[in-house]
Amino acid sequence: MDNCIFCRIVNGELPAAKVYEDEHVLAFLDISQVTKGHTLVIPKVHTENVFTLTSDVAGRLFSVVPAIANALKHAFSPVGLNVLNNNGEQAGQTVFHYHLHLIPRYGKGDGFG
Ligand code: 5GP
Ligand code: ZN
Repeated sequence: MDNCIFCRIVNGELPAAKVYEDEHVLAFLDISQVTKGHTLVIPKVHTENVFTLTSDVAGRLFSVVPAIANALKHAFSPVGLNVLNNNGEQAGQTVFHYHLHLIPRYGKGDGFG
């Protein structure tokens, strides 16, 4: 998708602070982090949201989430971590390329929630 920001990051047309990459999945820091280490995990293939996501793509994506979560835990020493996903404009989705938010948590006053 030419006009998709996340496809352009996958293609290397736009920069991103990469946290993890394999053949099918890319993780990078959110440009507007709600807490330190806020990371987005995306499939490299364009798919809009959970309603279009295939089981294969979901499987490859979710299979690496524990490793990415543990990398964030190691790097930032949070006390917890939210895994969130918005699907559809009314649900808060603003970029229409499927993504998970991994949001490290640091306790009360960490600025999120
Ligand atoms: P959504 O609201 O769709 O669940 O989340 C989209 C996320 O993408 C937001 O947290 C926003 O800050 C992030 N974002 C939007 N544009 C860019 C970008 O160009 N680079 C990066 N790294 N994150 C982006
Ligand atoms: Zn895309």
